[in-house]
Amino acid sequence: MAAARKPVVEVRRSERRRRTVSAYREGERVVVLIPSQFSRAEESEWVGKMLARLAARDLRSQRSDADLETRARQLAQRYLTEFGAIAMPASVRWVTNQNGRWGSCTPADRTIRLSERVREMPGWVGDYVLLHELVHLIVPSHNARFWELVSRYPRTERARGYLEGIAAAGH
Ligand SMILES: [Zn+2]
Repeated sequence: MAAARKPVVEVRRSERRRRTVSAYREGERVVVLIPSQFSRAEESEWVGKMLARLAARDLRSQRSDADLETRARQLAQRYLTEFGAIAMPASVRWVTNQNGRWGSCTPADRTIRLSERVREMPGWVGDYVLLHELVHLIVPSHNARFWELVSRYPRTERARGYLEGIAAAGH
């Protein structure tokens, strides 16, 4: 792997922030927002952490359709073992237009689509969205049986909370 160019970092201190740190790209620069009372040592520690997080997010966003299919098979084998081929989709793709949904499944042709927005999220959230759609291959509706199968994934509650938070922030 080629050595990554070190980005220009601009640190902004905020009186309003107490403990939260966030970072985003602004053109070629990375802006890191930190609480105003952070020491220099805390500042450099957090700048390092946030750069690593952004780099990890970039790597995740490069995941292809093939990676997604591989992941779907792994999740089906792990959490929906007894269903065998029933839990295996014919295709899994990233799509841009999901009308606000994170994922969708068409049981008739066994296809699953995930929103590009999920690509930017942590892997454990993406796994939840994927497993949710895989379970729809077995149970089309959101009934008790459906949620029983989905909750085999241990981070189901956390992932649902994460997605609700994002949906709430976006509206
Ligand atoms: Zn669903």
